[in-house]
Amino acid sequence: MVSGTQAKSDAKTALHVGGANVLNFYTANIGGGLLGWATFPWSYSGAPTMDGVACLYSSLPGGAAAPFNEGHTGTHEVGHWLGLYHTFQGGCATTNDYVSDTPAERSPAYGCPRGRNSCSGIAFPGKDSVNNFMNYADDYCMSQFTAGQASRMDSMATLYRGL
Ligand SMILES: [Zn+2]
Repeated sequence: MVSGTQAKSDAKTALHVGGANVLNFYTANIGGGLLGWATFPWSYSGAPTMDGVACLYSSLPGGAAAPFNEGHTGTHEVGHWLGLYHTFQGGCATTNDYVSDTPAERSPAYGCPRGRNSCSGIAFPGKDSVNNFMNYADDYCMSQFTAGQASRMDSMATLYRGL
């Protein structure tokens, strides 16, 4: 399941089930120092058997990948699978992650830097969404999607996944 390898493609081809509305969730040793990866909903039609989410097996709750072992790698990757970008997507640009209630953010938040405001004074101000599932903070720090993200996931699920 190492990203970009033939073995990954072979595994997905062998294991993938269902249509666009079915989440194929793999746990594996995905290599490359990665915690997980996902496909976006708009990519389904071009590569249906590649659709899904993969997480480092030790990121599951109680696994050995502390501080990323409370399962929020999975939460994060399913967010991508339903069409969300990172909260720091686009940096301090006003479009940012195409969600209006997540403040612009210059770069990923690591650890749990609560109160950080990396785009201070920019057109779309506000403290960084450090505790958002679509950031890179430690699992214990992650606690929310916003209403805007929920709305985007609903829209994408309807548009691309028939949900
Ligand atoms: Zn991500």
